[in-house]
Amino acid sequence: MRALVGTAVDCGSARENVAVIVENGFIRDVVPRERVGEYAVDEVYGGDGYIILPGLVNTHTHVAMARFRGLGEDFPIERWLNDVIWPAELEWTREEIRRWALLGMAEALANGSTAINDHYFFAGEIAEVAKELGIRAFIGQTVMDTIDFPIAEPEEGFRFFKKWAGKDELVTPVLAPHATNTVSLELMGEIGEFARERNALIHVHISQSRGEVLEVKRRYGLSPVEYLERAGVLGDDLVGVHGIYLSDSEVSLYAKSGATLVHCSLSMAKLEARIAPIIELAERGANIALGNDSPNPVGMMDPFEEMRFAAVLNKVWRKRTDVAPAKEVFRWASLGGARALKLKAGLIKPGYLADLVLINARKPRFLPGENPYSHIVYSTRGSDVELVMVNGEVVYKNGMLLRLGKTLEELWEELRPSGR
Ligand SMILES: [Zn+2]
Repeated sequence: MRALVGTAVDCGSARENVAVIVENGFIRDVVPRERVGEYAVDEVYGGDGYIILPGLVNTHTHVAMARFRGLGEDFPIERWLNDVIWPAELEWTREEIRRWALLGMAEALANGSTAINDHYFFAGEIAEVAKELGIRAFIGQTVMDTIDFPIAEPEEGFRFFKKWAGKDELVTPVLAPHATNTVSLELMGEIGEFARERNALIHVHISQSRGEVLEVKRRYGLSPVEYLERAGVLGDDLVGVHGIYLSDSEVSLYAKSGATLVHCSLSMAKLEARIAPIIELAERGANIALGNDSPNPVGMMDPFEEMRFAAVLNKVWRKRTDVAPAKEVFRWASLGGARALKLKAGLIKPGYLADLVLINARKPRFLPGENPYSHIVYSTRGSDVELVMVNGEVVYKNGMLLRLGKTLEELWEELRPSGR
C-alpha cells in the first residue's frame, strides 16, 4: 500500500491535511493525515506544502510530433499541414517514430498527464512506447481515404484496433479517422459500425479549418457535425477535437449528442488565430476535455499551460471575465477527460483509479494558498510535478522515469540529434 499526503484537490472539493491511500491500482481511502498509521502503508510521499491532484487527462495528442517542434512557425493551419507537416510525415521510419513518441510522451507524463489520447501513424510503435513508459494511453491509428497518404491506409486502423484490444492494462486502442474532410462518409460510416460492434471510442478532428468546412459542404451539402450525424458516429463514444468553426446550430446538435469536444486552445490560437465556442458548448451540456495537441505547434506538452491558456483565451474570445473560471477549467482537464475516455478517474475518491499527481508547492508563488483552483490553473507549471502515479504505480519521480530507469536529462542525451 502507498499513501500520498498533502492537500487533495479534485474538481469537487479541496481537503487539507489528508492521506490518499492507494492499493492494487485504486484509491482505497481518503483519510485525515494522522490516520495513515491505521493502514499497512509501506511508502508515503508528500507532506506539508504538497498538493495531490487526480491525474490530468491529455485528451488529444500527437506525441511523436515532438520531431517537428519549431517547424512551420506562424503558418496558418492549412499551409502548416500541407507544406510542412504532411511532407515531413511521409519520411517517418519505425525507429524514428519510437524515438520521438518516447520523447513527447515522457514530457507529457513528467508534466502531470497520467493519460494521453493519441492520434497518429504507426500506432503500434506508439503503443509499445506507452507500455515501456507506464503511461495510460488511448491510441488510434490515423486513417484517411479522400487523399492519397500511404501511411494512413484505412485497413491499418482496424488491424491495429484488433491487435491491441484487451491486450494491455494501460493501452486501449481507439479508432482514429483523421477529420471530416479527409475521410469519406462511407468510411466514416464503416468506422461507426465497427465502433458499435466493438464498443470502441472514435477520436476525430472536427471543423479545424475553413477549408474543411467548405469541402464537406461541397461534397455532401452538410456541415461537419451533420456529416458525423449522417455517418452514425455522433454520440457519447465520439471524442471530437477542435471544432473552431462550429456554427450555432452545430453547437446545439453536438451538445445534445453526448459527444465530447476536446479544447486545444493554445494550438488553435496559434495555427488559426481562433478558438472553439467552448463556453456555448459547455452551457448547452457538452462534455469538455483539454488536450495539448502536439509539441508542434504548442512547444511543450504541459497540461497546466493548457489550462492557463484555456482560462484566459476564453475570456478574451468572449470578451467577458466571468467565463472559464479556474475550477471549471480544472474539471475539463481532469474529470472531463476521464469522462470522454470512459475512465473511472478524475476524482480523488475511494474506488477510483489511482492515477494521481503530486505537486511540490513549497514555493513562494503557492502562497497564501486560500484558493487552490486558482493556484492550480494560474500558479502551477508542469515542472512543479514531483511524482506521477499511474494505476497505483509510481512511474515518475523527481526527474526520473522509473520504468525506464532514466532521468529526463539522460533521455535528452540519448535521443538528441548529434551536435544539439
Ligand atoms: Zn490534432
